Amino acid sequence: MSQSSLVNVDVAIVGGGMSGAVLALSLAALRGADGEPLRVLLLEASAPELNAHPGFDARAIALSAGTCEALARHGIWPRFAPHCAPITHIHVSDKGHAGQTHLTAAEYGLPALGQVIELSAAGITLQQGMAQCPHIRVCCPAQLADIEPLEEGVRLRLASGEHYQTRLLVAADGGNSTVRQHFKLPVTRHDYGQSAIIATVKTAEDPAGRAFERFTEGGPLALLPMQEGLSSLVWSVQRDQADALMALDEQAFLAQLQQAFGWRLGRFLQTGVRHVYPLALAATDYPLAQRTVLVGNAAHLLHPIAGQGFNLGMRDLDLLTQALARALAAGEDIGSFEVLNGYWRQRRDDQAHTIWLTSSLAQLFSNGHGPLVAGRNLALSLMGRLGCLKAPLANQTLGFVSQTTR
Ligand SMILES: Cc1cc2nc3c(=O)[nH]c(=O)nc-3n(C[C@H](O)[C@H](O)[C@H](O)COP(=O)(O)OP(=O)(O)OC[C@H]3O[C@@H](n4cnc5c(N)ncnc54)[C@H](O)[C@@H]3O)c2cc1C
Repeated sequence: MSQSSLVNVDVAIVGGGMSGAVLALSLAALRGADGEPLRVLLLEASAPELNAHPGFDARAIALSAGTCEALARHGIWPRFAPHCAPITHIHVSDKGHAGQTHLTAAEYGLPALGQVIELSAAGITLQQGMAQCPHIRVCCPAQLADIEPLEEGVRLRLASGEHYQTRLLVAADGGNSTVRQHFKLPVTRHDYGQSAIIATVKTAEDPAGRAFERFTEGGPLALLPMQEGLSSLVWSVQRDQADALMALDEQAFLAQLQQAFGWRLGRFLQTGVRHVYPLALAATDYPLAQRTVLVGNAAHLLHPIAGQGFNLGMRDLDLLTQALARALAAGEDIGSFEVLNGYWRQRRDDQAHTIWLTSSLAQLFSNGHGPLVAGRNLALSLMGRLGCLKAPLANQTLGFVSQTTR
């Protein structure tokens, strides 16, 4: 290979879903000791115009208040704000039992507990932002053919024949990360045996900022408020039940949904296209390899219960950006073990805790076993009454946990 065909960059990000695109825009604001902006390369496998983009599909996700603050710090929030609907009230309940708890924005002195955004809208605005930024080179559709770590950088070869050399490689390539597989990083996996059905639904009553998490005998069911009085449904059920629910016509599906959720939003009137996601945990114990770091779903693919996936990923992106900014200011090598390990020391407790929490909730609240049902009911009732028990739940849900680990 001639040297002229090798393009040098500072950071190469593999994967341009939420994590990769948000990181690219956050890093593009950083400058090296010479005052020059970072050169960022983003490699994404799927073309943006495809409806079935794996990173920006039909999901709507809840962004915690902490995530919104971090997005604002990195200059990305103004892009998301016009597409978001606020969550002002979260209602958690157990179907057929008395246990329930409420979180309200007012009791935490916040205008909103979080915001809901459709990933398709987030994808469009993130891609526009990257296209407008001269320091971000987006290569899409890109097929990564080889990764070669060297002392002074990592060489990347694309199937198209292009070659890049980067000081730092970031894997944001999702739950089946190619980069993670390349470095043979060990992964803890668990198949929950469940699938999540997602759809946009219309109810007789406007959710008006109310989000619901309801634990049913089949599994957890969440409704998130969206713009125009709609709600986004995430209904996690056993896989065979998901197949049966997907096979129903609209009216029969709405009747099942009504039965599982109840009448807190009045009658379910309409559902959009239903999509189904098999649910599994895939988490690395150690997300570092030579000049390489894993972030977002590539580091931790979670059960969607409690909406923690991207919120946890955003705390990775926030602290990685801060770690790189510090290293640049000190004239350090951004791909060095010291810099990456410093980042990881700040992230490991939050990651381990959030993985444990979502797995425990998924198992506890998907179980019809008598003593467990009684235990979770008691927990929900107590949380409703005792502020001190509600605080840890609120802390996690609001996404401010990383501040305690800094
Ligand atoms: C049903 C459901 C509901 C959810 N709800 C919430 C919620 O309410 N709140 C929340 O915070 N999170 C939620 N999540 C999680 C959230 O959607 C993800 O954590 C988030 O989208 C971040 O994903 P990512 O960018 O890390 O990975 P992905 O979305 O998987 O993106 C990976 C990207 O990498 C690309 N790619 C893969 N391999 C390669 C390769 N070899 N080369 C180049 N590109 C590659 C893919 O095309 C893709 O664009 C939910 C998830 C599900 C399934």
